[in-house]
Amino acid sequence: MDIINIKDTSNKLYYIGGIVRDFLLHRPSIDVDITCEGNAIEYCAQFGDVLQINPDFGTIKVLVDGREVDFASTRTERYDKKGHLPQVDKIGVTLKEDVLRRDFTINALAMSVSTGEIVDYTGGQQDLKNGVLRVLHDNSFIDDPTRIIRGLKFAMRFGFELDEHTKNLQDKYLENINYDMSYARVKKELIETFGCSKEMTRGLQWAYEYFINEKIYKLVTPDDVTMPSCNIEKLIHDYPVENQWLVFVGTLKDLSRIPLTKHEQKILDDVPTAALSSDFEIYKAFENINTESILLYGILQNEKIARRYLDVLKHIKIKINGKDLKHIGVPPSPEYSECFDFVLAEKLKNPALSYEDEIALAKQFFKI
Ligand code: ATP
Repeated sequence: MDIINIKDTSNKLYYIGGIVRDFLLHRPSIDVDITCEGNAIEYCAQFGDVLQINPDFGTIKVLVDGREVDFASTRTERYDKKGHLPQVDKIGVTLKEDVLRRDFTINALAMSVSTGEIVDYTGGQQDLKNGVLRVLHDNSFIDDPTRIIRGLKFAMRFGFELDEHTKNLQDKYLENINYDMSYARVKKELIETFGCSKEMTRGLQWAYEYFINEKIYKLVTPDDVTMPSCNIEKLIHDYPVENQWLVFVGTLKDLSRIPLTKHEQKILDDVPTAALSSDFEIYKAFENINTESILLYGILQNEKIARRYLDVLKHIKIKINGKDLKHIGVPPSPEYSECFDFVLAEKLKNPALSYEDEIALAKQFFKI
């Protein structure tokens, strides 16, 4: 565990959440979250240079031993608007009250910074041992449906299962979704689930099938989805892309609820809808679009065609350019691009064509 060198004997400070869970699972953890039972802003400024204070959340960022550490005051939260970011209710509550606002028992463990003692108010240690994901109360998914996707993420990462009651609560929620929720938060969890390259116990294909079969996709779209026959994980493995999550989630018909960047929207808009048959058609449809769009075509329409482009056609390029056409006496005109397409069509049939062959084809095109 990434221990921060804080000399504190008060027993007010606790590592909390993911870091404790990962420590007990012997897995590395990226974030170090420390909670202060009481008021972190008043108490934690003593540990180093104060970098930032957020009084509304009771948090303070301090430079401890050259490292930025976030200290949070223990707090309770209210979901005045279900599905949206919670409001801070009270700051400076007991550790137990703080822990009870969390998502799963395995994320509700605390560990004293002073003594290393594990504080477990919800049975998280037992659930960690049994590989169980259990919510802390029956309204958990109603308050915050993004927890359903978080559950999928942890199931995938640790190979855990939802406990039966939690699964029933999830199914019940998914039958009656309140679509007025924060889709920015949903997107964040989808990216962490399907865009993640961290070590996983279960593969992305497993997560995708679970996402579809358990109807978790309904959080994003009310449309029905048919499971594509293609193995998306294998496709991603063969052709790695930056926006991996979008290749999975982009299989849904309607993503309009998710706030997409212009680039992400373009990836979806560019997926060809027409059936492509000749190599020339395939080449022209794919040459100027992102690999993500090609993979989505492969998943939704024809995997063989997507692979043919990415494995073979993509690497075929004509050698002649505008200068060459000028050189053979053709003044610049829109016919240039028609000529390049003519040469390309021949080159796709016979990739061994040389530069001289291409010049001959260009002359043939212009009847020179
Ligand atoms: P990861 O390893 O993916 O970062 P994490 O559990 O550390 O997982 P964070 O998103 O960093 O996840 O959240 C830190 C802690 O905050 C969690 O362990 C959990 O206790 C709490 N938490 C995060 N998201 C929620 C949520 N939607 N509802 C309730 N508690 C949450």
